Amino acid sequence: MLVSDPRKVGVEEEFHLIDRKTRRLTTRAPELLARLPDDVYVDELQQCVVEVNSGVYADLDGLRSDLERHRTVLIDAAEGLGIGVAAAGSMPLALPAEMHVTGTQRYRRMLADYQMLAREQLICGTQVHVDLPDRDEAVQVAHRVAPHMPVLLALSASSPFRSDGADTGYASARTLLWLRWPSTGPAAPVSSAAEYSALIDDLVASGVISDPGMAYFDVRPSVKLPTLELRVCDSCPRLDTVILVAALFRALVEREVEGLRAGTKGVEVVPTLTRAALWRAARSGLEGDLVDVRFPQARPASDLVGDFVNSLRPQLEQTGDWDTVVELSAEASAHGSSAARQRHALARRGRLTDVVDLLLAETAGRTEHLPEVEAPPAPPQTGPTSIGARRTRRYWSARLWDRGDTADMTWTESTELDEKKLIEWRRDLHAHPELSFEERRTTGIVRNHLVGLGLEPVMLPGGTGLWCDLGPETGECVALRADLDALPVAETTGLPFESTVPGVSHACGHDAHTTMLMGAASVLVRHPPATRVRLIFQPAEETTPGGSVDTIAAGALDGVAKIFALHCDPHLEVGKLATRTGPITSSNDSVTVRLWSAGGHTARPHLTGDLIHAAAVLVTGLASVLDRRVDARTATVLTWGKVAAGQVANSVPESGELVGTLRSASRETWALLEPLVTDAICHLLAPYNVRYELSYRQGVPPVVNDPDCTADLREAIESVVGFDHLGEAHQSSGGEDFAWYLEKVPGAMARLGVWDGTGTPQELHQPGFNLDERAMVHGVRTLVALTRLEDESE
Ligand SMILES: [Zn+2]
Repeated sequence: MLVSDPRKVGVEEEFHLIDRKTRRLTTRAPELLARLPDDVYVDELQQCVVEVNSGVYADLDGLRSDLERHRTVLIDAAEGLGIGVAAAGSMPLALPAEMHVTGTQRYRRMLADYQMLAREQLICGTQVHVDLPDRDEAVQVAHRVAPHMPVLLALSASSPFRSDGADTGYASARTLLWLRWPSTGPAAPVSSAAEYSALIDDLVASGVISDPGMAYFDVRPSVKLPTLELRVCDSCPRLDTVILVAALFRALVEREVEGLRAGTKGVEVVPTLTRAALWRAARSGLEGDLVDVRFPQARPASDLVGDFVNSLRPQLEQTGDWDTVVELSAEASAHGSSAARQRHALARRGRLTDVVDLLLAETAGRTEHLPEVEAPPAPPQTGPTSIGARRTRRYWSARLWDRGDTADMTWTESTELDEKKLIEWRRDLHAHPELSFEERRTTGIVRNHLVGLGLEPVMLPGGTGLWCDLGPETGECVALRADLDALPVAETTGLPFESTVPGVSHACGHDAHTTMLMGAASVLVRHPPATRVRLIFQPAEETTPGGSVDTIAAGALDGVAKIFALHCDPHLEVGKLATRTGPITSSNDSVTVRLWSAGGHTARPHLTGDLIHAAAVLVTGLASVLDRRVDARTATVLTWGKVAAGQVANSVPESGELVGTLRSASRETWALLEPLVTDAICHLLAPYNVRYELSYRQGVPPVVNDPDCTADLREAIESVVGFDHLGEAHQSSGGEDFAWYLEKVPGAMARLGVWDGTGTPQELHQPGFNLDERAMVHGVRTLVALTRLEDESE
């Protein structure tokens, strides 16, 4: 039944201003606001933000068209000044030195009082107001709605990046910045309007806040309006999200007012738990679990959103909003949080400007936003041209599923190599990824599988990782290695067996590596090899220097004559494998230089050590020295990933930091780099009167494939996929801890094609990385073939 007079609702939206050329935050709010009516468009603490106040509406359509109109007017006015407008909790590109606080007395005083908090307040929120004129009711309803704030925050989460571009790992980093202020957090701990006023008076009297407007509770009776105000949400680029949040909040307020008047109890949750649940929502957004505070327990965000919407059905039906909310909440689940969309935009090409462009487009209601990704380098291949390759792929797809066509592989008949099992195992591992040295579940699965085959695995002392031997008990063995760990990357593939662990995924294909070695174990048990074979499932490949170091220390290489491994390659089509003699990956060391100076006035650099200048000399100078002193053919590359120093124009900073990586394709050069860098930095900085500390961390050496082992590997690959599908691998600039095994025993690694041949291949470690599971059969067969070379050559 529709009510004739639903509570009115209004929205305050905050927007970042962006310089359209640099995509950085720009402080031109005063200039822009001068062109706009001041009853709707107002300033904020930071000059890079403007706030827009909607009218009040009883119907969502009215609210939506009002907000739409205001956005359009703002965007048009900004466009004339070369300014872009973006609604999001935070923006990834800003220079602290360019930011300014608005020059009113109130904001100047806030800067003076709150210092860092005011300077770093480069965030935007959405506030929703719902009519609730009775202040006593408002204070109590504020408590009753508090347990539901996390769901509303998760829907709006749009601040994954800090203003220096760093990924915070949070969906709403804005929430964390907010919580630093002295008067934020759950609703005020009072139960009447009089108590509330007294509390606010006390806060003002304490001198910690300067006016009642600074009582920034998650939900509060509005300072100037007869409303209850929702304050937890990030600014939302898509207007649909704003409408959804507004509709849900209005229904929630209505339900709790009804409950209050009827004398029923609301959900009672202690504030500590509400705060914990809010943190969880800020961390995970819609992409992970939220806390169901009623029980309490962690549950997938989509389930909690669904429950929340359903619980408000009576109120939503009264206002005629039910259908709209059902549609918008389904869309929200499908689109994911803005935070996830932003990360996805960054992952495509690694450009933060793409994130900004996405937010500008979504704020303007446009959808065509992302430029096409440049075509990746063509995968190296021997034999077929690209057209031929495509035809070949079809041939291989057909062959893969045609089990009759394995006559040349007598050791693996259809019953031994069950592709469906491989897929089942891999999908299970994929859905339950574990970070380095935390691979307990994965280790347990592998262990159970091996024990089930009658094998006797040896656990590594750290509790993750294991190896086991099979075949005759004499002689030196051939080792096959897989890695178990996943990455701290939030998956965006949308696959049905997508990672269930927030922020963790198998973006490097180690789930497939583990699966293939499990599959090889099955085959080898049924068809025992003539030589001894060791299967090594190592933890923590993704760490530096790598879990292989611990694995070797535990004795996994004792008695091993040679070792082999496969790694997924998303640039190589499924059905193909590639390898090369000599280095196939690169070394990867990290260089951190910390600098200190006495500091001083920039007018008199000669009286101090000009730290910025010295840092700049290092930035360009060290690369130049390496350029002249190291053979260019070794592909030795120094790249600085972080250079930080300074705050203001006229002061020489007292400290700074440079962090970079140094990679080399040459094993010999790698060994020489640390002393060379140490010496060069000492000499480059000598004249500048700055102190420094160098921390040089050797990562991994390059994986250098042994010529004989590479010949074995080629032979094995040919026996599985045929000569035409064996490629010459190029050397990658990535690092791989398989290198540490090869420092001890000869061995070789090959790349396994996992690209399905359609669309743009996703890079390893990208949130959208996926692999064609058909590749795993080739992987298993190649691994098994490596154990057969001796007896087949007889
Ligand atoms: Zn990997």
